[in-house]
Amino acid sequence: MLADSHCHLNYKGLVEHQDAVLSRARERGVVAMLNIATRESEWDDVLATAEREPDVWATVGIHPHEADKHPDVDTAKLVARAAHRRVVGIGESGLDYYYDHSDRDRQRASFRAHLAACRETQLPIVVHTRDAEDDTADILREEMGKGGFPGVIHCFTASGAFADIALDLGFYISISGIVTFRNAKDLQQTAARLPRERLLIETDAPFLAPVPHRGKTGEPAFVADTCRFLAELRGEDPGELAQATRENFHTLFARTRT
Ligand SMILES: [Zn+2]
Ligand SMILES: [Zn+2]
Repeated sequence: MLADSHCHLNYKGLVEHQDAVLSRARERGVVAMLNIATRESEWDDVLATAEREPDVWATVGIHPHEADKHPDVDTAKLVARAAHRRVVGIGESGLDYYYDHSDRDRQRASFRAHLAACRETQLPIVVHTRDAEDDTADILREEMGKGGFPGVIHCFTASGAFADIALDLGFYISISGIVTFRNAKDLQQTAARLPRERLLIETDAPFLAPVPHRGKTGEPAFVADTCRFLAELRGEDPGELAQATRENFHTLFARTRT
C-alpha cells in the first residue's frame, strides 16, 4: 500500500491513457496519488481527474518555470481555487535557477504568493527547488516567520545541509526515482539518514522513471520500485516503509482523510 506524493497525470505521455496508467498503479499497490498542477491552464484538468478518481487528489499552483507567464496568479486566486474539496496542497512552486526558464524576481514573487496562500489556508506547500538552496531557505524562513504552514520539498536533490534546514522547518522530504540512479551517491547518503516520519516517495511521472525502467515514460506504478530501492538503502522492510510513507502522506496532506 503506497502513496505517490507527486505525479503529473494530465501531462502528455500519461493523459492519453490515464485509465491504464491508474490501473497499473493500483495493481502494484498504489492507493493514493497526488496529481500536481504546474500551470493555470491545467487546474480544471487536475481537478476533474481528482473528482473522478477516489484515490487521486490535486494541487493548484504555478511551477517556477511558468512564473513569467502567470503574473496575475496571486494569493487570492490560489486561495479561491484551493477551496475545492479535492485540493489538498498548493504548488508546485519554488525556485529553479538551473533552467532559469523564468526571471528570478518573478520566481521569487510567485513563490511568496504561494506561501501566503498556504499560510491562509493551512494547506501544505509543494516546493520545487533546483540550484537555489539559499534563496529557497531564506524565503521559507521569512514567510514562515509571518505564520507557519506545512510543506514538502519534492523530488529532493539538494544538499544534506538543506535537508536539515527543511527538517528544522518541519517540512517533509520526498524522494523520487533519482535516488535509484547510479550517479546519485550524495542523494543516497542523505536519503539513508532522513527520519522515516518525515519521508515521502514520489515518481514525478511522466519524468524520472527509476531503475529498472530508465528511459521509459514514468508512471505512478514505479513508486513501488523506488520504495524497494529506498528500503534496501535504509536497511528497512519495503512493506513497512511503504506503509510509513503512505501514513506520512495522509498526515501531511490532511485533507485526503476527509
Ligand atoms: Zn518539480
Ligand atoms: Zn513535478
